[in-house]
Parts: sequence; C-alpha cells; structure tokens
Amino acid sequence: MPENQYACQCSCGETTFSVQGSPLLRCYCHCTICQEFNQAAFADISIYMAKNVVLPSPESLEYKAYRPPPAVQRGKCKSCGSPAVESLQIPLLAKLIIIPSNNLHQDCVIDPALHMFYHSRVSDIDDGLAKFNGYWKSQAAFGHKLIVSLLSGRASPK
Ligand SMILES: [Zn+2]
Ligand SMILES: [Zn+2]
Repeated sequence: MPENQYACQCSCGETTFSVQGSPLLRCYCHCTICQEFNQAAFADISIYMAKNVVLPSPESLEYKAYRPPPAVQRGKCKSCGSPAVESLQIPLLAKLIIIPSNNLHQDCVIDPALHMFYHSRVSDIDDGLAKFNGYWKSQAAFGHKLIVSLLSGRASPK
C-alpha cells in the first residue's frame, strides 16, 4: 500500500476500504437520521475528501438516500448491517466521504471537534466540546470547520 494509506473496515470486517492520511474533521452528529442509521444516540463521524478514500466494492454495501438535500448516500455493510461509508456531494465545493470513526484504522483517528444537531440529542453530553443547535447553525459550524481544515492542511494523527 502507498505511504500514508490506512486499511479500514466495518465492524464485522467484511467491508474493507482504505483512506489516505487523517480526516479533515471528526465530529459527533445528533441528527435523527444519524440516530436511525447508526442505531445509536449520535454518530461519531470522520470526514475525508473523496479523492483520499478508496471505497469498498459496491457489492458489499447497501446504499440508501435518507433525505435530500443534502444528498447523502449512506452505505451499510450487507453482512453486519452496520454503517460503512457515506458520500456527500457539496455542490461546487467538494465530494466528501463520511466514515464512522470506529471503522477507521486507529492510527488515523483524530480528536473530535464539535457536536452538531445537538438540539435533537437523546441525552446531554458533558465533554467540553462546542455544541451547535439547529439545522443552519449546525451546517454552518460543520462547513466552517471543514473549510478551515481544507485550507490549513489536514490535522495530524494523534
Ligand atoms: Zn460488516
Ligand atoms: Zn447526522
């Protein structure tokens, strides 16, 4: 594998893919779609530029678009049914890949930056991270962090 390339997998290991470097951003999303998709109180997600991810083979995944816009395609592993990768096209800006942080190789996991869609949380989180409520505020905080990260180069792994 090329330098800086990390092997990643879903929780059962049937769905495999790889990423280059560390993510642009890691955050917690409390939106109801993430709750349903992850069967959890919130999603712990890491964001990559699409060009830095070698996606799993399409046969191993079941894709579903939950609610456009934004047009997020969410892929679950066919074997274990757990979230594997999600792709998100931001018009005129970038194609992004969203990966549940626990699917990443541990060497490329970074510290989480914020909580978004916190208004739809299942329970309060006391972790000192910034928390954003509401659709537009959450989108803006997410977009801002992403752009800062894109401009400054990626965060280095822990
Ligand atoms: Zn799996
Ligand atoms: Zn969400």
